[in-house]
Amino acid sequence: MTPLWLRTLLQHAALLIAGGFVGWLYDAPFWGLFTATAVLLAWHVYHLYLLERWLTTGAAYPLPAGNGPWSQVIARIELLRRRTRASRDSWRRLVKEIQASTKAFPDGGVILNRELEIVRSNKAARGMLGLKKKRDRGMRIDNLIRHPGFIRYLESGSPKTSVVIPSPLAADRWLSCRLIPFGAEQKLLLVRDISETVNLERMRRDFVANASHELRTPLTVIAGYLDAMADEAEFPAAWREPVRDMQEQAARMRRLVADLLELSRLESAGSSSREQRVDVRGLIDAVLRDALAGEHAGRQLSVEVAQEAALLGEPGELKSILGNLVSNALRYTPADGRISVHWWVDGQGGHLAVRDTGIGIAADDIPRVTERFYRTSAARARQEAGTGLGLAIVKHALKRHDADLEIHSEPGKGSEFICHFPADRVVTS
Ligand code: ADP
Repeated sequence: MTPLWLRTLLQHAALLIAGGFVGWLYDAPFWGLFTATAVLLAWHVYHLYLLERWLTTGAAYPLPAGNGPWSQVIARIELLRRRTRASRDSWRRLVKEIQASTKAFPDGGVILNRELEIVRSNKAARGMLGLKKKRDRGMRIDNLIRHPGFIRYLESGSPKTSVVIPSPLAADRWLSCRLIPFGAEQKLLLVRDISETVNLERMRRDFVANASHELRTPLTVIAGYLDAMADEAEFPAAWREPVRDMQEQAARMRRLVADLLELSRLESAGSSSREQRVDVRGLIDAVLRDALAGEHAGRQLSVEVAQEAALLGEPGELKSILGNLVSNALRYTPADGRISVHWWVDGQGGHLAVRDTGIGIAADDIPRVTERFYRTSAARARQEAGTGLGLAIVKHALKRHDADLEIHSEPGKGSEFICHFPADRVVTS
């Protein structure tokens, strides 16, 4: 027991004894005790009243000084109040700092709950997405931003990817949106204005497309004269070899220009239409017929079609996808190797695979072979007359069909290129 409490107890006991003694002097010890107890009770009730008034009205009344045990109790309450106020002030400061920093953020952030309803958004996000702070709180984000690509992205819920959508406020501005899960089933939608990058990319595409277009006419003229020279019976024999070389190089340049134009077109187009049905077996037959018509005539390819089905998309682009994969398989597989084309449908969608037992691709090269002009050293050593654009065309054409390309390969053993088409692009009946 602390000295204060000991003293308090002694004081209370002394008061009660004194009351009892005075009462005894007047022959009424009970009344003496009663009066002393009533005085003590009144004293405590008075302090309780002061304390309660001070707690409920805050600073309106001075802090009761109190005495005896009350001074200790009041001092402790005051200390706790001060501590609480200090920690509340520091939390307030922290929240203000966080709010100020999210306000200063050039990127937008929207906090969404499990139902994708807006919980909070920063100023940048409201500016970019055209949201209103009070009006849109609690609204589902997909009711406010109706872009089909954005809605598909929300449904996929993949935090690793992002989606680029046109700004709902200005046609020439582009936004990159990324959904990051956090906390208890909440999601943070990060929005970044990437208009500059998109415009630069568009300028680059336009430049390549224009330059390729301009090169077409001079190349046609050069190739025309070279063909005429090669056909000329009286042409000097010493020039026949160089003219053949020039013809080959002109043909290679024309292939390059054609591939560059095709790539620019694919890059600038959105998702391909779903209006046309392309019969997969017919597509495979047509591609193999073309691929085996020229220098690869006589080579053997096997075909396995597990289900009769059609793909919804652009026939020319689907032909270009399979054509490039088959042409690569033929060029990078020795004549005695095996090449096969497979088509099957499952719960995930349709799958078109081209397998070969050719030279294969090193693991480090696999992620890069779909880049423009990327050729592996093994392919360069073979001096195959490729443009280095085939797989880039395949990748972009697949993207237009909402499809992905999966590559498995081992040097010296062979390669497998699988195109995965989503189920809503496959028609089986
Ligand atoms: P290219 O015109 O050079 O074939 P692609 O874009 O079609 O250009 O292919 C890029 C590179 O990927 C090729 O240069 C080659 O190194 C590699 N590649 C593509 N397909 C195969 C394959 N079936 N087997 C081995 N390597 C391949």
